[in-house]
Amino acid sequence: MRAVGVSIARREVKLIDHPEPKLARPDEVKIRILEVGVCGTDREICEFKFGEPPAGSQHLVLGHEALGEVVEAGSGVQSLKPGTLVVPMVRLPCEVAACAPCRSDRQDFCGTDTFEEHGIRRSHGFMTEKVVERERFLVPVGPDLREVAVLVEPLTIMDKALRELDAIQARMPFAAGKRALVLGAGPVGLLGAMALLLRGYATTVVARSPGTTPNAKLAAAVGARYVSSRETPAGGWGEFDVIYEAAGSPAAAFESLAALAPNGVLILTGVPGAGDFLNFDAGRFVREVVLRNQLIVGTVNAGKASFAGAISSLGEMNRRWPAALRGLITGRHPLESFGKLLLERPEGIKSILVL
Ligand code: BGC
Repeated sequence: MRAVGVSIARREVKLIDHPEPKLARPDEVKIRILEVGVCGTDREICEFKFGEPPAGSQHLVLGHEALGEVVEAGSGVQSLKPGTLVVPMVRLPCEVAACAPCRSDRQDFCGTDTFEEHGIRRSHGFMTEKVVERERFLVPVGPDLREVAVLVEPLTIMDKALRELDAIQARMPFAAGKRALVLGAGPVGLLGAMALLLRGYATTVVARSPGTTPNAKLAAAVGARYVSSRETPAGGWGEFDVIYEAAGSPAAAFESLAALAPNGVLILTGVPGAGDFLNFDAGRFVREVVLRNQLIVGTVNAGKASFAGAISSLGEMNRRWPAALRGLITGRHPLESFGKLLLERPEGIKSILVL
């Protein structure tokens, strides 16, 4: 089978011949991969900044944002049958008996750092023709979402963040404010803005580029306010109860604190590289966080409930903004175009590889 393989040791990204997997257990399912999204994490792995192949393998098959179709189901599989569309989960639980999150099916909160992530660390990903996975790590999606379901995984990041936010805001015996700021106008930021709008938040998207880019226009088309940080510094953005950082820029995250309201929550989702030093007033930072009851929370990956939640939100977005949702996907390319999408900076918002 064709697959996009990254060899970190040899510093190579190439199309490789990968063996077709077979069902080995009754709870396993064989999936034909239909589409795989390309994201910043994939590009970082291709720059050898991140990523780890499975034990004993020279390479890592890339790809973690996928849509597939069941082609074969083991004898013990209950809920999936050939023809069902599925989105695979990314993170697999660790093996440590004492890891309470993994033993509770919440590997997104794994406490041991020995978990695997498809296409990212220690487990092959989905930029290949067929994969085998256990039923419990696959989430079914209806045929009505066939065109956009490849966006489910990036939307799970926001779904988990919103669940975290609900839990955090339960600390206050009064309704929290509904003003949201999204930092970054890439696919995660734009999907996040749409999810916040669905929840009734007055939403502002801040990114560097001017208001004339397709990303900025898409933000405006769904009803968000767009602000270019090059034109307006943080002091002029307004005041927000929730800030969702999806730009991967630590400096932008710190800068945005100037726009965080009392009792506000800053949610960090970007994964920047180490070594981005900032010179800032730590006294002022701690003082403001304390005196304003603010919370800064990091969130990564997502559990199964967030996959189901993202599918349901995607259905709502598909009814409310069908054109804008499709507009997020700016290119579908054959697997052979991986080099252009992964190693260069492609135009557009979200690029998809089609198997
Ligand atoms: C993925 C997450 C993953 C994270 C860290 C992100 O790109 O969407 O599922 O946990 O990278 O590896």
